[in-house]
Amino acid sequence: MPEASVLSRPGAAPSGTPMLELSEIHTYYGHIHALKGISLKVMQGEIIALIGGNGAGKTTTLRTISGMQKPRSGTLSYLGKSIVGSRPDTIMLQGMSHVPEGRRIFGQLTVRENLEIGAYTVSERKLIDQRIQEGFDFFPRLKEREKQLGGTLSGGEQQMLAIARALMVAPKLLLLDEPSMGLSPLFVETIFDIVQRLNKERGTTILLVEQNASMALAIAQRAYVLQTGEMRLEGPAHEIANNESVRKAYLGED
Ligand code: ATP
Repeated sequence: MPEASVLSRPGAAPSGTPMLELSEIHTYYGHIHALKGISLKVMQGEIIALIGGNGAGKTTTLRTISGMQKPRSGTLSYLGKSIVGSRPDTIMLQGMSHVPEGRRIFGQLTVRENLEIGAYTVSERKLIDQRIQEGFDFFPRLKEREKQLGGTLSGGEQQMLAIARALMVAPKLLLLDEPSMGLSPLFVETIFDIVQRLNKERGTTILLVEQNASMALAIAQRAYVLQTGEMRLEGPAHEIANNESVRKAYLGED
């Protein structure tokens, strides 16, 4: 994004206690300084879009939040408690679920078996069956393919399965990494519709990382723009969508 990428507008972030809060987070891969002091807030009930170009640090942000990558410094709290250094499964037990980039479903297992694996932290059999049923109600197409191997599903169906699997722990906060990647336009619409329905019908709070900036900004309330590991811009999604530098850099306008 060009130099005019000024900006965090004061007062852009809402007041109240955030569900998730990152402050001055620095994350490294060896010597590579991937996140350079980023700050971000997610309030309960929001859909937040995190956009940025290739290698900006979007995936690293989600991995840092879900405990897969430990930040070197900075604070990170979820539901009012620090989760720096917590293991991913511990964080998941607190109601956060992460759908990774590339979906990572088990191709040699059936749809139902993939969902069972998503519930590995849930011990009660009745609850697992109930959540699988809820997943099938939400994604009727997965019900139709219940006994089919994950690897034989279309890309869009695999993304549905990855989301349904993440829902097996009934998350309060869902982290979604590039859910529309590699999908046909029709499935892209379907996936964005699912994200909105999860938010509206189930009250799930969503942090959405997307290359498809225009779609993400259309469904989010607020947005953050990352550039080479730094947070360049934050504000209401409609304002970000109208920002000239964002339009040029991420919305394909000259
Ligand atoms: P993309 O949209 O291309 O997936 P991104 O915004 O998600 O990009 P990240 O994947 O978070 O960006 O990468 C941020 C920086 O960290 C990049 O410079 C990348 O090369 C580097 N990086 C990411 N993963 C690793 C890793 N496992 N080892 C070393 N460097 C990494």
